[in-house]
Amino acid sequence: MKQIAVLSGKGGTGKTLIAASLVRFLKNDAVAVDADVEAANLGLFLSGRTVSEEALNAGQYAAVDDALCNGCGECARVCRFDAVRITAETARVDPMRCEGCRACLIVCAPGAIDTMPRQTGVLRVRECDSGILVEGELLPAQDNSGRMVTAVVDRARQIAAERGAPFVVVDGPPGIGCPVQACLSLTDQVLAVTEPTVSGFSDLQRLLDLCDLRGIPAVVLLNRSMPGWEHPPAVERLCEERHIPFLGRIPFCRDIPAASMRRLTPLDHPLTAPPLQEAFRALFEQINC
Ligand code: SF4
Ligand code: SF4
Repeated sequence: MKQIAVLSGKGGTGKTLIAASLVRFLKNDAVAVDADVEAANLGLFLSGRTVSEEALNAGQYAAVDDALCNGCGECARVCRFDAVRITAETARVDPMRCEGCRACLIVCAPGAIDTMPRQTGVLRVRECDSGILVEGELLPAQDNSGRMVTAVVDRARQIAAERGAPFVVVDGPPGIGCPVQACLSLTDQVLAVTEPTVSGFSDLQRLLDLCDLRGIPAVVLLNRSMPGWEHPPAVERLCEERHIPFLGRIPFCRDIPAASMRRLTPLDHPLTAPPLQEAFRALFEQINC
């Protein structure tokens, strides 16, 4: 099984549309993952019915046993998140403020504090036209999305193994932070989707640096290409300098936003489909499939 992560280093490059196109290109050979748990939207393009849903507990919060608490206030003193109030000789933790750092557990002499699992999100498995989609949804005011990403990707790999699917295609989160780091674990190939802007170029460099650091091969696809308006042909030059395969350019097409509102992807449009199919073929040559 090969895991392909579609990443961009920034939001708004069209990464999700390219990931949805790749899943559809592979038909039932891929299990799709929406690992952008803070704003999952791959399901908009791979519509299907939910077959299972479960709580994800990727965090914790402190809880006080009133019978053991002597109201000394040490927990409130060490809590940097102002999550503890001492009332009527006992401590009260506000779960919304508590970050689960466990500092209060260390200083509580009577051992009156313990941690409780916190539900941070939901993991959903959906049956779509193009196969299975696994997605995570972070609940409001929750964090630890890196752990959620790991849980979502692990479930997809498990399903792929059960079904004998040769690919897991991960629509990754933006940026290069903790959720992206989590998404890179067990990834065999990164498909870096960039756009012809200064910020797109800068964030592509950061992403490629991260792939280097993690020893994961990357290929680059330039989306929304506009000859004469690009900053710069620099993307191709960068790939040359770094010996990274450049898969090609997907032309800017005004129809794509309207088409995406009808759940269509660039693979469904006559202008963008041919270069995209060619780029995907080059991608699979790269990973020897
Ligand atoms: S440190 Fe422990 S005993 Fe002291 S107030 Fe907090 S919970 Fe109660
Ligand atoms: S676990 Fe950390 S954040 Fe939560 S109450 Fe204890 S010290 Fe405060």
